[in-house]
Amino acid sequence: MGAGPAALCIVAELAEQDLKVTALASHTPDKPWPNTYGIWAEELETLGMASLLGHRWSNTVSYFGDGIGKDGSNPIEHNFDYGLFNQSALQQSLLNRCGKLDWQVETAEKVRLKGANTEVICSSGNSYIARVVIDASGHKSRFIRRPNLGPVAQQAAYGVVGRFSSPPVKEGQFVLMDFRSDHLDELQLSQPPTFLYAMDFGEGVFFVEETSLACSPPLTREILKERLITRLSSRGVEITQVIHEEHCLFPMNLPLPDRTQPWLAFGGAASMVHPASGYMVGALLRRAPALARELAQAISLDPQLDSSLIAKAGWKVLWSNELVQRHRLYQFGLSRLMSFEESRLRCFFATFFRLPQEDWAGFLANTLPLPKLILVMLKLFWLSPWKVRAGMILGVPSS
Ligand SMILES: Cc1cc2nc3c(=O)[nH]c(=O)nc-3n(C[C@H](O)[C@H](O)[C@H](O)COP(=O)(O)OP(=O)(O)OC[C@H]3O[C@@H](n4cnc5c(N)ncnc54)[C@H](O)[C@@H]3O)c2cc1C
Repeated sequence: MGAGPAALCIVAELAEQDLKVTALASHTPDKPWPNTYGIWAEELETLGMASLLGHRWSNTVSYFGDGIGKDGSNPIEHNFDYGLFNQSALQQSLLNRCGKLDWQVETAEKVRLKGANTEVICSSGNSYIARVVIDASGHKSRFIRRPNLGPVAQQAAYGVVGRFSSPPVKEGQFVLMDFRSDHLDELQLSQPPTFLYAMDFGEGVFFVEETSLACSPPLTREILKERLITRLSSRGVEITQVIHEEHCLFPMNLPLPDRTQPWLAFGGAASMVHPASGYMVGALLRRAPALARELAQAISLDPQLDSSLIAKAGWKVLWSNELVQRHRLYQFGLSRLMSFEESRLRCFFATFFRLPQEDWAGFLANTLPLPKLILVMLKLFWLSPWKVRAGMILGVPSS
């Protein structure tokens, strides 16, 4: 169920396993996706898919204000390529791998067990029977049970692709996080911190986005827009043409799904967004093959195996013990970061990006094995100034 990046990634892998797949989505699978997806280039190189990048930057930096450069204007250079997917190339390459599939434009209304199989009932009144169902309908899925662990923090952002009175970032540059806050007044400084995510698209076009890493309740679009305009104008930059506006809102620490339920999830519905960074597409591409292999094996080994047992085998691979433990560590980290006031947060990130590149990049991609992840977190603690260490251990009570 679904036709976003998660659905197409898993369907492509299921097709490669020669499984018979029916895909249901509220729109045709070639309808362009609304979001722009970014990723560190190395993640795609490892998968042999770097040609799917539409833009690629080698000049990648972040600004964390004081402590780095006298007036905080010297960036940390990441020396690591970042890219934006060519949306349609990614979508088309996945669709090509899906082959000739049975795609149905349907909106699923209900999912239930029917004998040994699972039935999906759609708003059209049609119903579909499958040996196993995978819900890839995004983080708002109504079909996946998960525990209620209280308010869920959301990443929120307001961005503009456009032209500007002068360049908002240097030519050819990608800015992962500009956390400089010298343009904010006392009141704004006491509110949840935001940063600028920005890049040069060439030919006088730039993308600038004011982003709140995670917050509950999320920052509103109005606050983010005002922050973006204040930040730009403090540097003497005005937006002269809006080509496209982006509104971003998605959960960062959605609890993991109940892994005893008799159907599976993948992507946002399966809480696969990285709780510390908000990225997911790399994880979809890396984790889909093992899930598809496991399902193919379960389905072919025993033609009588019922939906719940097939789903159980799938959940075990999708959220193995190792991945669950790593996820918990990330969620713990995020909860600490959310308690940090802006100067402590800037200090944290400045320290984080002083870790060796393979450590911070592996942390952000979630590719470090658990023992190594623990080691990197300890290293980060060791490198951090006392005020960050204290915040990591105790959290920071809200004032
Ligand atoms: C603005 C924005 C920017 C983001 N940027 C990045 C980024 O740069 N890099 C990154 O890795 N991640 C990013 N993310 C996070 C994450 O990768 C995306 O949210 C991603 O789109 C989630 O993919 P998905 O396929 O799980 O869900 P979605 O993309 O939400 O797709 C859900 C699909 O299910 C269909 N559907 C929903 N309900 C039903 C139903 N009842 N029946 C049938 N079909 C249904 C929808 O029509 C849609 O096709 C971003 C998220 C947002 C919102």
